[in-house]
This record gives sequence, C-alpha cells and structure tokens, in this order.
Amino acid sequence: MTDQKTIYMDNNATTRVAPEVLEAMLPYFSELYGNPSSMHRFGDQVRKAIEVARSQVAELLNAKPSEIVFTSCGTESDSTAILSALQASPEKRHIITSRVEHPAVKNLCESLDRLTGHKHTITSLHVESDGTIDLKKYEKAFTEETAVVSMMWANNETGVIFPIKEMAAIAKSRGVLFHTDAVQAVGKLPIDLVDVPVDFLSLSGHKLHAPKGIGVLYVRKGTPYMPFLIGGHQEGGRRGGTENVTGVIGLGRACELAGQMMHTENTVVRALRDKLESGLMTKVPNTILNGHKEDRLPNTTNVSFEYIEGEAILLHLDQFGICASSGSACTSGSLEPSHVLRAMGVPFTAAHGSIRFSLSIYNTEDEVDYILEKLPPVIANLRAMSPFWADRDKIAGGGSCSSCGCGK
Ligand SMILES: *Cc1c(COP(=O)(O)O)cnc(C)c1O
Repeated sequence: MTDQKTIYMDNNATTRVAPEVLEAMLPYFSELYGNPSSMHRFGDQVRKAIEVARSQVAELLNAKPSEIVFTSCGTESDSTAILSALQASPEKRHIITSRVEHPAVKNLCESLDRLTGHKHTITSLHVESDGTIDLKKYEKAFTEETAVVSMMWANNETGVIFPIKEMAAIAKSRGVLFHTDAVQAVGKLPIDLVDVPVDFLSLSGHKLHAPKGIGVLYVRKGTPYMPFLIGGHQEGGRRGGTENVTGVIGLGRACELAGQMMHTENTVVRALRDKLESGLMTKVPNTILNGHKEDRLPNTTNVSFEYIEGEAILLHLDQFGICASSGSACTSGSLEPSHVLRAMGVPFTAAHGSIRFSLSIYNTEDEVDYILEKLPPVIANLRAMSPFWADRDKIAGGGSCSSCGCGK
C-alpha cells in the first residue's frame, strides 16, 4: 500500500477531525495557551472560549450549559456517571444494563465489586434477535434495590437504537437514576434532553469529528453527583484537572457542525449506507443483516457473510485501502465472536463473518461503488477455500464452532 487512496468506513471506531474543528483549535495550541483557571486576562479569554464551547455542546443536546461537564473521553464519562449514581444511594446495590453495552460500561459493571468493595447484583438484559430491547422485560427488571440503569442510546456494532425516552421515563417513575451512553447517537440522531428524562448522558469527541481525548458527561440539574477525578475546582468542582482546552474548543465547534449536518447525516449518508447494504445483500449470496432494519443509526451497517472469517475479509479489504471492522476475533486476541452478536443469538456460522461499515459525511458514492466492485470476489474466493462453506448444508442453522475453540 503506497499511494493508494484510503476508503474510510470505520467511523464508529473513530472519525477524522473536521477541518473547521482543527481551525478552531489551532490558536489554543499557540498564542492562546493560558490556563482557564488563572486570574489574569490571558487565562480569562481561554475561560470564555471554554464557556462558548460548553454552550455549543449544550445546544446540540437541548441542555443547559451548566449541565455539561468536560471529561477526557466517553469511557471516563461512563465511569463517572455509574460510580456517582452508586455513591448517591449506597444502600442500593442493583444495576440494570444490557448485554450489548460497550466495554466502557460492560467491563465497569463487571468490576464494581472490586472497585467499590461491595457486592452488586447486575441485571444484564437480553436483546431480541434484531438487537432491540423488550420494554416489558426491562420494566420487570426493577427491584427495590435498583440504584441505576445504564443503557446505550445506539449500539456501536450494529447501530441499533434503544427507546431511551421510554426507558428513562420508566426509571424516573421508579425513582431510579438513568444513565445513557450516547457516544454513537450524538451527532447522528436529534437529541432533546428537555424531552428525554435521562439523568446522565455520555458523549465522546472523536466519534463526531472532534479529536480523541475529549468527552462530556451531561448531568441533569439537581441530580446527586460525586466527582470521579478529585482535584481542583475545575468544571464547577465536578471534575478535577486542568481542562483539555484545545479538545474542548474542538468539541464545541464539532457539536455546532453536527447540528448543521444532522440532516445530511440522515439523508445523504443514510442513502449511501442503504446503497452499500442492499448492493452487498444482492451481490453476495448468504449475506445476513445484523440488527433492526429501521431502528438503526443512519451511518451503520453490520452484515454477516456466512461461513467465512471476518478477519480474513478485513485483511483483503485492507489491500484495497478499504477500512471497515469485524465483529469476530476468532483468530486474534480473544477467541470469542462479538458479545453483541452473541447476545442477539446470531449463529456462529454468521457471527464469525460479520463486517461493520460505518460511514460519515466524508464518504462518497464512488467509494460505495468501489466496495461493491471489490468485495463480492473477495467473499467468493474466501468461500472457495472454506471447509464450512463446502459443508454448509450439514451445519446450516446449528452446529458448534469446535474448529476455532470460541465455545459457540
Ligand atoms: C467509542 C465508544 C465509547 C468510548 O469512548 P472513548 O472516548 O473512546 O473512551 C463508549 N461507548 C460507545 C458506544 C462507543 O462507541
């Protein structure tokens, strides 16, 4: 790969910094390097710029600027919200979450006993085969002991959207704090926090064309709150540590742009995604769409090419300069296919061959056409070498993944 063009369709992993965002940040690396906490005018102008950024973030969410706390990333926001909620009601030790959360929530919940020194009970709700959640099962999960609910707004692997407004309202009616990991939703879906009664919401800059290393935790006014990073009085005492000023400025500008591009995201980007998806489904036999067809982010498609390995597909795509990602990690690192696809009950013959394409406003129709030209022969070649493909009539819809040891 020398001067080959990169076709980047891995925007749920990270996005490019928008040129407008970079431009807004640059002065704060050079001439405007003051500390926003300083008493002099040099620092004060930086503090004012941070407050502009705070308003820009608040506006995208229809929140108040005072409800926005800048953090270092989506992961920090998730940890802060959940640990804060648990500290607010120390006598309650039950948490409701889902099987398909990002590791930032999933692994935190699994580590709570060690972190807090208390035993917690976690109800990790199953999802349906299309990745959606059954609200009746959700309602039944509440107990007198429930301290907090954490549910993602949109899934990073499949793009499936949860009914956060209804879920938050149910938690509120029970007096239980509600956190949503909205890292994938912000910038892609309209979000109105006057209308949606969540107590906490996490977002991350690098998923919406701001840089890596900046996040936000929205904390609704009046919500009991305990800081995660304890230190100086930054962020109104809600998060110690000198602000990542350039990141904050960039995120503010990115939120402003996201508001302007929301329509494009839901029309132009959606149409490109749909063209790619339907093209793959018609050109490649034995292709399965993972996730609900409609209740889904406009930029994400997750498809399984049955009987082959996602990793092998990615390596071939990489040679054409195409960047996507795979829900399977059978041959590298973890032996398990994606916990999200497993929670949906996707059979092993499909889970291992899953590929996620996640688009952005920077993708073009030419790029979609290029993928539709390059990918089908790759799949055909890999299947020609696959023992599963040869035996597909024997293992269709069942069997076990004994050959790779993933336990499915
Ligand atoms: C990327 C992502 C995160 C983590 O955000 P970081 O800023 O990388 O820590 C959390 N949740 C979801 C759904 C994500 O997609």
